[in-house]
Amino acid sequence: MKPRIEEKFWKPELEQEILEKWKEENLLVFDPDTQKPTFVIDTPPPYPSGVWHVGAAAQYAQIDMVARAARMMGFEVWFPIGFDRNGIPVEKYTERKYGIKMQDVSREEFIELCRKALDELEEEIRRVMERMGLSADFANAYHTDSPEYRALTQATFIELWKRGLIYEATRPNNYCYDCGTTIADADVEYVRLPTQLVYIKFSLEDAEGDVTIATTRPELLCSCQAVIVNPEDERYLHLHGKHAIVPIFERSVPIIPHPAARPEFGTGVVMVCSYGDFEDVRLFRELGLKEIIAIGEDGRMTEAAGSYAGLPVEEARKKIIEDLKTMGRVVKVERIMHRVPVCERSGVPIEIIPMKEYYLKQLDFKDTMEKLAKELKFYPEKHRQRLLDWIRSITIDWPITRRRYYGTEVPIWYCKKCGEPHVPEPGKYYRPWKESPPFEKCKKCGNDTFEGEFRTFDTWFDSSITPLFLSKFWKDEKFFEKVYPISIRPQGYEIIRTWLYYTMLRCYQLTGKCPFEAAWIGGLGVDEKGEKMSKSKGNVVLPMPILEKYGADAFRLWGAGEANLGEDYRFSERKVADARKFLTKLWNIARFISSFPVVEELAPEELEASDKWILAETNRLIEEVTDAYKNYNFFVAITKVKEFTWNVFASHYIELVKPRAYGREGFSEAERRSAWFSLHRVLKTILLLSAPVIPFMTDFLWRKLYSEESVHKQKFPEKLGGVEEKWLELTRELLSFNSYVWNEKKKRNLSLKDEIEIGVPESLKPLEKDLRAMHNLKG
Ligand SMILES: [Zn+2]
Ligand SMILES: [Zn+2]
Repeated sequence: MKPRIEEKFWKPELEQEILEKWKEENLLVFDPDTQKPTFVIDTPPPYPSGVWHVGAAAQYAQIDMVARAARMMGFEVWFPIGFDRNGIPVEKYTERKYGIKMQDVSREEFIELCRKALDELEEEIRRVMERMGLSADFANAYHTDSPEYRALTQATFIELWKRGLIYEATRPNNYCYDCGTTIADADVEYVRLPTQLVYIKFSLEDAEGDVTIATTRPELLCSCQAVIVNPEDERYLHLHGKHAIVPIFERSVPIIPHPAARPEFGTGVVMVCSYGDFEDVRLFRELGLKEIIAIGEDGRMTEAAGSYAGLPVEEARKKIIEDLKTMGRVVKVERIMHRVPVCERSGVPIEIIPMKEYYLKQLDFKDTMEKLAKELKFYPEKHRQRLLDWIRSITIDWPITRRRYYGTEVPIWYCKKCGEPHVPEPGKYYRPWKESPPFEKCKKCGNDTFEGEFRTFDTWFDSSITPLFLSKFWKDEKFFEKVYPISIRPQGYEIIRTWLYYTMLRCYQLTGKCPFEAAWIGGLGVDEKGEKMSKSKGNVVLPMPILEKYGADAFRLWGAGEANLGEDYRFSERKVADARKFLTKLWNIARFISSFPVVEELAPEELEASDKWILAETNRLIEEVTDAYKNYNFFVAITKVKEFTWNVFASHYIELVKPRAYGREGFSEAERRSAWFSLHRVLKTILLLSAPVIPFMTDFLWRKLYSEESVHKQKFPEKLGGVEEKWLELTRELLSFNSYVWNEKKKRNLSLKDEIEIGVPESLKPLEKDLRAMHNLKG
């Protein structure tokens, strides 16, 4: 018999043809007028700020599995694609690419350069996405830097402004001098860096002797306004209320007992400077100290630092240690590993500098956010805790303004005479730094000249409203009602405290609801050793060459099967090659089965015992795998399909029924038909259940064997009725009996076809006829 699948091997090139077909057929386009229940995905708009590595690509392949699985569960699915194109990362990329600093060129020029860089990066990401077979709405791809999107971002600002949820304040905040802007706590990362802990001798003004203070920030000496000791620390009881003299600057500062001083750190005596960290900020406020700004916006020491003025922080630190040594003030220097806050975007240590910024209220919403975080469905459950921990840790409102160029402009004009801020009507996209204001006169003093705001928003201020943009908030009420809250938010755990949290906050403030029903939290794609991929580490693997060499299905199969939902997945080319072995196996199985006629239907009583057994196994597989898909756990789904296909179906069942399917001597036509029906029924099930993960090969085989219509238009299979579960009891027995026979033949140097004298055990009697033919059993 000739197999209907002529191609001997599956080739990745075949995927190109299938992609074309999907495009032609307009296969997976969302129909907003559908009668089916809708399922909308809040796809993370990728941020084009560098090349995409395989880890990032694999995450989107998994989001595609969310979409494909939902379709097969009977939903009308909208899988949008957007690109997040605002803010510091792309500005940094542009600066590196062109070897300039943002401030070197005009704002217009810089924006143009950013846009060009973004277009190129986006093009490459889009190519990878399409090649991976993402069933997304590319035709309607959106951009967070489009006038339409930015107008919505601005409209949300205007609305919150009017409701009094936004205010301006000057307060010490995280400042990245490399990015030249205030940043939010959510943008701060902690890294462990080697640092010198310097023990400095302070003399005392009104007591005998001196006191030694250990610090990692001696360059902040000039801003020291107090010294604290723990009230319980018996070593320093005699210093309470006395004064110390700050070396070099020769200023007298009070010694105050305060529990913030930890006796076990350094000497237990701590200098309080403006500002080493947020603890200092708190102490300055609490103790009513007057701040001295030691570090400027440019990351250099200010005039307050005296002879160190103008030096970058690190240099000032070195120099001041040298000077203190010369003066005999340094008792000792220890090398320690120190937890240092750095800017997530630039990796530069942040400083705490007071700047005037706009804040969005979030402290008032902490309880509500916690409630929403508890109600939201999480896949997997364990990542809920990260969100709760973050919400509970918030101590300040969200500074939303950035001193940058490539972002959505803050839509405010200020009266030139009295300074009154004016916000325009929502709905349009405004650029106050270059446009004249949409009003004639100051509403406060009647003056008619205005100054436009120059700042932009934090990137998260834009990307946190994707559910509103997608659901056409304020634009199409009917559509909004239909799709909001969005069905699912898929994203990585590393942006829970930013994207997930901010989206919930912003959308709640505007709609009174959590913006999505469920959050699907994937792991991170890392390298073989579990390290993050980055250009500087030199461990970046590009997706395109892998996709071309092994095909998208092999890549996706690796991505789904590498780690359980929510865990990091480690990439190695060898594992993709391994994944391809399963595809080859599946291909060979399908090719073999394709040589037998498809029997569409057979009554349960017409089935042979062996067939009832495999169909009972298949029923169990359907149940377990659809259950995994309902939890969007592709790891469990595909692992089960793989194990069943390879270790049960191919290794045992196919071998068992081969003689009968071929119609060897002694098998009737009815017995053959039972085998044909079952082989095809199981193959169909495998194709349907693995279609979300390996969409190319399954569609190819499906169309070749079973239908004109794509496998991706089908639903997940139902369990076959009339097959009793009791057949499952045979599985173990059968597998070990087969292994026993194969081993015996090997021991006796017999080929698999040779006859052997072994009896069929009682429990396997129902399968006796097939077993005898399979193993050529005598006796
Ligand atoms: Zn930075
Ligand atoms: Zn005015």
